[in-house]
Parts: sequence; C-alpha cells; structure tokens
Amino acid sequence: MKITSVHATWVHVPIPYERQHVSDFGRVASFDSVVVKIVADSGLVGWGEAKAGVGSSSSAHGLAAIINRDYAPLLVGQDPRDVSRLWDVMYNTPREGYALDRGHVLPQLGRRGLSISAIAGVDLALWDLLGKSLGAPVWRLLGGRRAERMPAYASGGWADEAHIGEQLQGYVDKGGFRAVKMRVGVMDGEPRASAARVRAARRALGPDVKLMADAHGTWTVAEAKAFCRMVEDCDLYWLEEPVTADDKAGLAEVRRSSAVPISTGESEFTRHDFREIAELRGADVLQPDLAIAGGLTEGVRIGAIAAAYNLRLAPHLWSGAPAFAAGVALAASQTTGFILEYSLGANPLLHELVAEKFPVVDGYVAIPDRPGLGITVDESFVRRYARE
Ligand SMILES: [Mg+2]
Repeated sequence: MKITSVHATWVHVPIPYERQHVSDFGRVASFDSVVVKIVADSGLVGWGEAKAGVGSSSSAHGLAAIINRDYAPLLVGQDPRDVSRLWDVMYNTPREGYALDRGHVLPQLGRRGLSISAIAGVDLALWDLLGKSLGAPVWRLLGGRRAERMPAYASGGWADEAHIGEQLQGYVDKGGFRAVKMRVGVMDGEPRASAARVRAARRALGPDVKLMADAHGTWTVAEAKAFCRMVEDCDLYWLEEPVTADDKAGLAEVRRSSAVPISTGESEFTRHDFREIAELRGADVLQPDLAIAGGLTEGVRIGAIAAAYNLRLAPHLWSGAPAFAAGVALAASQTTGFILEYSLGANPLLHELVAEKFPVVDGYVAIPDRPGLGITVDESFVRRYARE
C-alpha cells in the first residue's frame, strides 16, 4: 500500500454569540482545528487532526502549511502502515536515515511546537488508516480496550461565584456526569476569588461529585500555592496546569506544597516533556493532547512514562472528533487510563464534523468498536469551513 496524497485543511467554525464562553483566552468566537486527510492507493482514507492552540480558537495557516508543504512530500509514495518509521522520518529529516539505522533521535529545531503538532495530525491519520486496513479499531492495535465504557468528566465551568454551582450542577443533571471541571486562574483576579468560586461549586455539588479546577497555566508559583492552601478542604480531584509549562520545577514546587493532586500536559510536546515532568515529580496525572504532543505513537510512549512513574493518564480531549476518538482509544488501552474529558463548550468539530456521536450515558462514554478511529468525516463540512 502506498500513500497517494496528504492534505491538511484549517477548519474555522464560527460559534454563535449566545454559545460563546469567556475565559483567560478571551471571548471564544470560533472553534479551529486542522483536519488531515491521507489517501492510499488502495482507496482507503485516514483522518487525523492537528492543533495550533490548546483552546478552541487559533490561527492555523502555518500548521496546515507545515503538513502540506514540508511533510506531504516526504510521505507520498510511502507505505502508510509503517507508522513508527514515518514518525521518525518527519521528526529527524534530513537525518532520518541515521535515526532509523541507529535507533536514536537526530531532530533539528522542530522538537517542540507546531512541527510536532503537524506530526501529530499525520500520525493520527496513519493510525486511522492502519486500523481500517486491518478492519480493527485503533484501541485493538494498542493492546485492546480495558472496558467497554469509561467515566467522563464534564469540562466547562466559567460562571462567576454566584452561578458556578448552578452551571456545574447542570452538567450533572443533564449528562449524568459524576465529575466536573471548572476554570480558575487569572480570569478571576486574585487566587482568593478563584478559591471562593471553588467553595461555591463544592457547596452546590455536595461531597459525591468529583470536582477539578483548571488554571490554564496562568498563576505564579506563589499564587498557585496560595490557592491550594485556600481550597485544601474542598476535596479537589485535581488542579490542572497551575503554572506555565515552562516552569516545571515550579510545578513540582506547587505539588510538593499541597495535598491537592496536580495534572498537566495539554501544552507539552513529546515524551521528552512528559519524562521531565515525571522525573521532577511535577504531576499526578499526565494530560497529553494527541493533536499537539505527537499523536498516538507518542501518546503510547507517554502512557508508558505514566505507568513507570506510578502516575495516571487522562488525555486532553478538548478537540475535534479525530483527536477525541484517538484519545478515547489511548485512554481505553493504557494501564494508566481512567477518565475521559468531555467538553461542554460549543464544539462543532466534535459534534458536526463526523457522522458518529459520542453520547454520554450515566456519565460514561462507550469505547466504539468501529475500524480505525471509528469516524466518518463529513467532507462538505470541511469544505464549508475551510480557511486556506
Ligand atoms: Mg486544561
């Protein structure tokens, strides 16, 4: 089997004003992602996704160009089923020959950032193609699924102190979620304002619903430590990204200072970043975004790091359907997987890009057994919202 074409499209979907939310990222007026289509001479098509931002909206001209102009020429004519080899070709070019012969990496500058997101998008499409070529869901290729369904947590929670309880309880009432995540951090002003919102949320939810808080990496170490001290009696399931991803020692300092479990990873790239977090004992839960950190190939390696350091794995699933499906497959197959993120913001790329739905029933998402990533992309949707 040979690859005949690789094409990435920046898909930019406006969100109606009444469905937009406001966070430290500002008013989120669109959902953007890069959809990757790989066609093989057998007629099979693989779909992947690459992201230029961790949130909903981002400019993605550059990311699409890396895939279309830099990586596509390397991939056409190659066997798409050699996923690991093609990962190394993209990562190590022009020294991929040495890397493949000698079994160690020789990358240049593209070791982080959009170059890795671009590899991620291609990698997810290759895994989709591989699964389809074998008639098997991706999770089966990764060792099988550990359960037929997994618990999901509702990811949202932007309301102010007066309304946050009602907003989060709405997620519990509607989807049956038993775990909910709210946003905190600089958008609240001082840490004590975030702590007051968390206390209001815990009061409204009672003791039995798991509650997480996500600071989007916006605090200083001192602010994060102060916040943890103020919410120590709120039984947080985790505090996510307390400080910037560039201060991993600070992250570890926050974790050491408090009993609140720490999660992080959506702003990190490759196994190398996650190894460093694990070595520094910076987090309890690793959260790679497969459309950013390097795809499923890298996700499995990150899962192994989590296992080796006795940490847990909860992929960042604030994404379109291809990366969501890949993250579900990863979480379902890894010994460290335990919970799935389910975005409660407006997310047309999860709900409208593909024919399939991912319903939440009693707080659980089923692990689908369709071949590949198990998605059928609506190409007219891609064309309608394509931004070249
Ligand atoms: Mg987050």
